[in-house]
Amino acid sequence: MKDPILVINCGSSSIKYALISREPDAPRLVGLAERLGSPEARLETTDTQGSKREHALPGADHMAALEAILSHLGDTPPVAVGHRIVHGGERFTRAAIIDEDVIRSIHETAALAPLHNPANLAGIDATQRIFPHLTQVAVFDTAFHQTLPPHAYRYAVPDSLYREHGIRRYGFHGTSHAYVSRQADRLEGGTANGWLTAHLGNGCSTCAVWEGKSLDTSMGLTPLEGVVMGTRSGDVDPGLHAHLGRELGWSLDDIDRLLNKQSGLLGLSGLSNDMRQIERAASEGHAGAQLALEVFCYRIAKSLASLSCALPELTGLVFTGGIGENSPLVRHKVVAALPHFRLTLDDAANTSTVRGACQRIDSGNHATPRVWVIPTDEESQIARETQQVLDARA
Ligand code: AMP
Repeated sequence: MKDPILVINCGSSSIKYALISREPDAPRLVGLAERLGSPEARLETTDTQGSKREHALPGADHMAALEAILSHLGDTPPVAVGHRIVHGGERFTRAAIIDEDVIRSIHETAALAPLHNPANLAGIDATQRIFPHLTQVAVFDTAFHQTLPPHAYRYAVPDSLYREHGIRRYGFHGTSHAYVSRQADRLEGGTANGWLTAHLGNGCSTCAVWEGKSLDTSMGLTPLEGVVMGTRSGDVDPGLHAHLGRELGWSLDDIDRLLNKQSGLLGLSGLSNDMRQIERAASEGHAGAQLALEVFCYRIAKSLASLSCALPELTGLVFTGGIGENSPLVRHKVVAALPHFRLTLDDAANTSTVRGACQRIDSGNHATPRVWVIPTDEESQIARETQQVLDARA
């Protein structure tokens, strides 16, 4: 591998990694350490030929898991490390070399992403101890959305909340929206301008991208705002919180748990947060699963329609994420719920997409917007942004 970059995505009990070569399209090493801190901790590695191996790491913490990952990186050491950081607040509009000041800022923003930023910091700390001489770069999920204009990022609450406490919309999944919109531009020969992107996985968000810049997105202060997700409610009436507190005596923690962990597809269906299971049960007549599917797709269409206000012109719609890439049914329902967009789906193309490939699934009429399925690749976007930081410094 030529000058590979190690991409690290640290969660509270997991580490996803990829060793990505500077040569475009070269095979990469990838892996996942999960259940960290428990007796069942394990590491799954995939080599450049695609063969997987499992390694038990009982009781391993982030540090032990990173050491195990390191021992599986082969004989080409990374030239830099790119870290996925969920929340960069308003300070970070692009990737940044990690120093004490950057670490302090990530700490300070942790109140806005209490589940994610501390885990990301644990990853930085362990990686710095293992690779004290390597440049480490923070790539922020929020940075791509720092181009939102104030009318898109401000909430209609008193100004002091924004000025003194940073209460505004930030948006997330920025690396994914940036990656797929850039791919869409490339696939259209660089002449395309306005994309609506739908990242539909366990977490879901939509984004309006004009000339490579995010102009609006569905997630807000936290990754709870917006469309329906696996276990997250997405938008609810903000009055719901006060109502549950006053009428049912629920605490803030109860409400937080309800909206983040017990809602979405899981809450509506009473069955599962997994779209494969929802689709299967819906086809067998399960009423909860049918409702979950309808609400999920309608809310995505509604979100895309509202985001279209940000675009001077609509080139097309891009589906990505585990659901967006793999569910012809969801794509069909979302497109069907947007008749005024004049999207035309080619049903055969929609149902015969090949996993991992970029595919255009509209009928090919030049007068109507395109519909693309583009597999996201957040790791490659993080490696690219890390490389850009290294190049700018050179
Ligand atoms: P992600 O977070 O991007 O890995 O996406 C996870 C989601 O993708 C889960 O809800 C899965 O059920 C869903 N998913 C994966 N494969 C399929 C498929 N073939 N059909 C429908 N949903 C899928």
